[in-house]
Amino acid sequence: PSVPDLEALQHADVARLLPEPAAESDKYRRGVVGVVAGSARYPGAAVLAVAGALRGGAGAVRYVGHAADAVIARFPETLVHAGPPAKAGRVQAWVVGPGLGDDEEAVRDVLASDVPVLVDADGLRLLDAAAVRDRDAPTLLTPHAGEAAALLGVPREEVESSRLASVRELAAHYGATALLKGSTTLVAGPDGSRTPVRVNPMGTPWLATAGSGDVLSGLAGSLLAAGLEPRDAGSVAAYLHGLAARHAVAEGAPITSYDVASALPSAWHDVT
Ligand code: AMP
Ligand code: MG
Repeated sequence: PSVPDLEALQHADVARLLPEPAAESDKYRRGVVGVVAGSARYPGAAVLAVAGALRGGAGAVRYVGHAADAVIARFPETLVHAGPPAKAGRVQAWVVGPGLGDDEEAVRDVLASDVPVLVDADGLRLLDAAAVRDRDAPTLLTPHAGEAAALLGVPREEVESSRLASVRELAAHYGATALLKGSTTLVAGPDGSRTPVRVNPMGTPWLATAGSGDVLSGLAGSLLAAGLEPRDAGSVAAYLHGLAARHAVAEGAPITSYDVASALPSAWHDVT
């Protein structure tokens, strides 16, 4: 039987995939997310990625980077670590890249781990394709069109005009799951045309605001830490992110990325 090119999640799919804490849960079983993000120049990206991770249902978030003060000021529940990610203690998934600047070593360190890794933003710029292909644990790449173009070595217009082929090519080239952001977000698994590409029906142009991608990365990382497959983690995150933005817009627009993170519980409640 032939496999369709595309499929879209619906409310019921998302409800089924979202992790609900069981009676015997503890914070470790709910999943610990490591967030490697932010820099002196972009401390806010760290705050937004941590916001997405905490509101994504993680049991705990470990933050590694140079924006710990800003993170703690907004989210005192965050565990902050100085030093390299490998020394931060056990996590079930890593998110690396938002506002990271040029910390190539941090990216390498995280990719050397044996847990799922989400790479976004500056992390994509610093990515070594061979290091991704050699990983045993899954990798989820979350570029927008410009970042995808740089990864593929083609002009941005080429990605924009052939988004489906581009997301598939990215996934194949890196042996990873690729989530191509945009007005319709696409998620492709590493196994080529044997699985349909997920298309997100929930986006809203109000998401076209600084920092919204950082919230998405933390959120998807949280779902990876809870044990979702990368294609599910990416597509469920994109769905909830869009739904949260719609909820925030219902309260009043224009919205900020922080508003999107704050509306995640109401989106979650809406779905489940
Ligand atoms: P970034 O470019 O990393 O800040 O991420 C932007 C986020 O907003 C992604 O989740 C995009 O899918 C989403 N987004 C941006 N523009 C639109 C749009 N016109 N319609 C729907 N979603 C959008
Ligand atoms: Mg971004």
